[in-house]
Amino acid sequence: MPTPTEYDVVVIGSGTGGYVAAIRAAQLGLRTAVVERAPTLGGTCLNVGCIPTKALLEHAHALKVAQAANEWGLTIGQAVAIDMGQVQTRKDKIVKGLTGGIELLFKKNKIEWIKGSGRLAGKGKVEVTDGQAQTLTATKHIIVATGSQPRSVPGVEIDRKRIITSDEAIGLKEIPKSILILGSGAVGVEFASIFRRYGSEVTIVELLPRLVPIEDEAVSTELEKSFRKQGIKVLTGTRVGKARAGAAGVEVEAQLPDGSSTTLAADYLLVATGRGPVTSGLGAEEAGLRLERGYIHVDRTFQTSVPGISAVGDVITFDAPGHPQLAHLSSAEGIALAERIAGQPFRAINYDQVPGCTYCDPEIGSVGLTEKEARERGYDVRVGTFKFGILARARIANEVEGFVKIVSEKKYDEILGVHMIGPRATELVAEATLALRLECTVEELIRTIHAHPTMSEAVGEAAHAAHGAAIHA
Ligand SMILES: Cc1cc2nc3c(=O)[nH]c(=O)nc-3n(C[C@H](O)[C@H](O)[C@H](O)COP(=O)(O)OP(=O)(O)OC[C@H]3O[C@@H](n4cnc5c(N)ncnc54)[C@H](O)[C@@H]3O)c2cc1C
Repeated sequence: MPTPTEYDVVVIGSGTGGYVAAIRAAQLGLRTAVVERAPTLGGTCLNVGCIPTKALLEHAHALKVAQAANEWGLTIGQAVAIDMGQVQTRKDKIVKGLTGGIELLFKKNKIEWIKGSGRLAGKGKVEVTDGQAQTLTATKHIIVATGSQPRSVPGVEIDRKRIITSDEAIGLKEIPKSILILGSGAVGVEFASIFRRYGSEVTIVELLPRLVPIEDEAVSTELEKSFRKQGIKVLTGTRVGKARAGAAGVEVEAQLPDGSSTTLAADYLLVATGRGPVTSGLGAEEAGLRLERGYIHVDRTFQTSVPGISAVGDVITFDAPGHPQLAHLSSAEGIALAERIAGQPFRAINYDQVPGCTYCDPEIGSVGLTEKEARERGYDVRVGTFKFGILARARIANEVEGFVKIVSEKKYDEILGVHMIGPRATELVAEATLALRLECTVEELIRTIHAHPTMSEAVGEAAHAAHGAAIHA
């Protein structure tokens, strides 16, 4: 009989990596405990990441429709405005429902939530402090899924009042008159869309020459065009120096692409320059884990340098840098790892087939190689692009910006990547992800019948376009 503190698997961290790994391990018959120090389960994604930001964006979308009342033939009595109190209440209710839902799933799967901070404490041992202090034994495996947290850049000190991160931005009770956003990755451009729609003066500052720098270049160009049209000020190729916070706002020194210096001022500075690993208090170094720039180094099966300890999610890195920090990826890693621990064959993840979604307006969905990456890998590249604006469904929805772009290669007609910006792109990318997973040819996508009238017709038409045969363009 196991003692009350003895488990097959102990997971540290209950984010989308940790909680999903725990559920899969429990499904496979492993006695599982999760150590979590936050007051709720679900980690970054549910509490301060994907879910609250998407809730804020959905409010922005509702406002967008209401602002176009004339177009829709709606009669709205008063001037359209947004009530931040109601926005926050609704967002918090959604978060509470979902984090509570994980507690229920833990109960259903007989997973124990041990409240406190977990620390690696020797072979198969996890010491819990700050809460239900005790030492847990993991007879089979320890999974580290401690995630990530916001980080800044030199010269910019986060004070969480005027110089804020996404953690504070999601809870703002007032609509800033003006906000500077540092960084144009997914987090930066999503908040740019939120605050601009809510009525703020938004300036987005990016060091690299284009917005959303990891996306296909055509997507960056389209987003910048749309942002400028919406009145978002875009400063690309701009280096930020020192930031000073006062009682009423911030001032930021910046160097523009032509080398000239300027001072940018706003009510708030939102630092969205990426996230760093969380290993504080974990005892990672003492346990002998190999760390790279603070991240836990793992191999492609998520095994760390110490037998019996594996890691998944935002906290990990491989030999090659650039492990994406995505909720669905951390979950997929958690599942693959739990199955390995339970003795099943390891099902490796193909990192060229991980979809990325950015829920700015217009939305971005992408999977696979960009056109540039495909060319760099030596493929004989063939591209097909189709604009949403041509589609009946897009016109009906009054969402006519953007396109779907298919990157394929000529020899086998294989689809290498699909990049889209426009209405429902974050949903449409699912079809593209399956196409890559099944190593589809463009021809197969052409022969796949896309229902009419739907946004998905843009995917079918982009495939036609790759063969030089778009029907509606
Ligand atoms: C604003 C924002 C929006 C985002 N939007 C999206 C999106 O739309 N789609 C998407 O795919 N991704 C999104 N992400 C990224 C996504 O949230 C992360 O990739 C995901 O949460 C990573 O999961 P994880 O399990 O690795 O870590 P985390 O979710 O960070 O969870 C780690 C957990 O471990 C706990 N912990 C840490 N150390 C200890 C310890 N020693 N003891 C006990 N507990 C500990 C923490 O309290 C935390 O609960 C977003 C992120 C942000 C910030």
